[in-house]
Amino acid sequence: MNAEGWPGMAHAVALLQKDAPNFDVIEEGIKLVELESSVKTVGFGGLPNALGVMQLDASLMNGDTLETAALGALEGIMHPISVTRELMKRLPHVMLVGQGARQFALECGFSDADLLSPEAKESYAEWKKKNPHNRVLDLFSHEEGKGCHGTVLSIVRNQYGSMAGGISTSGWDYKYPGRLGDSPVIGAGLYVDSRYGGVACTHCGENAIRTSLARSVVLYMKRGASVAEAVAEGIDDLAGLKGGYQGQVVVYAVDKNGEHFVGRRFKDGESCDYFIYHDGMSRYERRQATYIG
Ligand code: ASP
Repeated sequence: MNAEGWPGMAHAVALLQKDAPNFDVIEEGIKLVELESSVKTVGFGGLPNALGVMQLDASLMNGDTLETAALGALEGIMHPISVTRELMKRLPHVMLVGQGARQFALECGFSDADLLSPEAKESYAEWKKKNPHNRVLDLFSHEEGKGCHGTVLSIVRNQYGSMAGGISTSGWDYKYPGRLGDSPVIGAGLYVDSRYGGVACTHCGENAIRTSLARSVVLYMKRGASVAEAVAEGIDDLAGLKGGYQGQVVVYAVDKNGEHFVGRRFKDGESCDYFIYHDGMSRYERRQATYIG
């Protein structure tokens, strides 16, 4: 899991040690992050869109079957990761957004929830004071330098070599309503194929979408690159972006043998950490992503 995974990492590791199914490890770990109000980028406590409404994105991928499910701009539901899992089980579709995603969640029995924590309401009110606007569009003429700062992701490889991945996020703080990042776009923010490896991305989702980043990095592994070389190739793809908004991107990759590498493009001043646990470790560890350029 990446740094935002701190509320769920111990539980996820405990489930992995008990040989729980990969999706249980992912879902139960991420749910604890979605519930934690001090994580400002995921679920309850995340920051809303420019209209003050929380819109959440999530996705899951099974690396053995290449089954995927993704939700975009889901409103008023506490656990998007769990709704995503239901989507994989119950519908032939792989992506639901907006009202349809919410209807699906309610029909599955998830209850309506107020996702704005008191702190998030306060932050929104302050932001609104500093950013008065008649049209939301006007906000984006001076939006440079802001953007995405978090997501929770989990990539699991169990003792049998089966891999899976999941992501949940509130996305870009005060985003344009309806904006989707890379997290619900399979191939951009998440891609897992147990034959080669699993990759997830955080930060500027627009950049990961423009380069089909997660899928590309998995394909580099398929073509024989080591996990570190594959991430470096992905970061090199990002260097090809011209124009448009460009921000930090962090790429988290695990190969089919369980080797991992986390690399990032652009420094935004903060360190960028992740958690790792594998056989032979007495406890999971927090480590820093490698800055590549
Ligand atoms: N990648 C996410 C998005 O673009 C946000 C983030 O990780 O900061 O929505």
